[in-house]
Amino acid sequence: MTEPIVSYQDVYKSFGDTEVLTGINLDIEPAEKVAVIGPSGSGKTTIIRMMMTLEEPTSGDIIIDGQNLWKMEKNGEIVPANENHLRQVRGNVGMVFQHFNLFPHMTILDNCMTAPIHVLKADKQDAKQWATEMLEKVGLGDKLDQYPNQLSGGQKQRVAMARALVMRPDVMLFDEVTSALDPELVGEVLEVIRDIAKEGEMAMVLVTHEMEFARDIADRVLFLDNGVIVEEGPPADVLENSNNERLQSFLHRFR
Ligand code: ADP
Repeated sequence: MTEPIVSYQDVYKSFGDTEVLTGINLDIEPAEKVAVIGPSGSGKTTIIRMMMTLEEPTSGDIIIDGQNLWKMEKNGEIVPANENHLRQVRGNVGMVFQHFNLFPHMTILDNCMTAPIHVLKADKQDAKQWATEMLEKVGLGDKLDQYPNQLSGGQKQRVAMARALVMRPDVMLFDEVTSALDPELVGEVLEVIRDIAKEGEMAMVLVTHEMEFARDIADRVLFLDNGVIVEEGPPADVLENSNNERLQSFLHRFR
């Protein structure tokens, strides 16, 4: 057995009095493709933000690359277990958001060069070459000098993907990346994700409402409801053959 690249062990998360995640146990294997589905407010975004170190758990362990991200001080405060490791994880986990989060005042090439230069300390020529390759890969090789506001939503989202991919992460997180797009632009973005998935090397965790897409791309689907993983397994088992009532009623909305 390979060691999981990400492991959640009995993870709880509250915001104030609101308990958002209740005892999450989850292992993600290297190169595994995991789709996370579930109703709005069920905790999907919180789970993946934790992989990016953007939230710490209230209790439980989040182990990435074999090391715990956080530790609890005697006074109960949660602090980084190892700042260096946390920084490494941030460079090694890529995330694409619903709302692109591109830098508006930079060309798309510069958008894709900043992280290699500032995080990896790459020299400018290398960063430019990597960024150009990634933008070509997502079909935007002819737009390098344009600014985000000159692009369609689908194109912006493809830039956001190139910007994450240029770091060559071992894990890529996609948080409802097609939800803010006009319907006719969804296909081009899913197509790029499919291509990346086919290459195979990276683990991918996708929060999505695109059930067909989840079925095609995922090795495993997780159904989250009310902060609990209610059902998980191969796509056909979860999306077609589950008897779980909450899952059935959730899926019914997509039929
Ligand atoms: P989902 O992605 O499934 O829609 P989220 O993980 O975004 O769910 O949110 C789960 C719950 O946590 C929601 O009730 C949301 O309001 C709450 N929540 C998320 N982030 C915060 C925060 N920073 N402060 C307070 N509540 C939050």
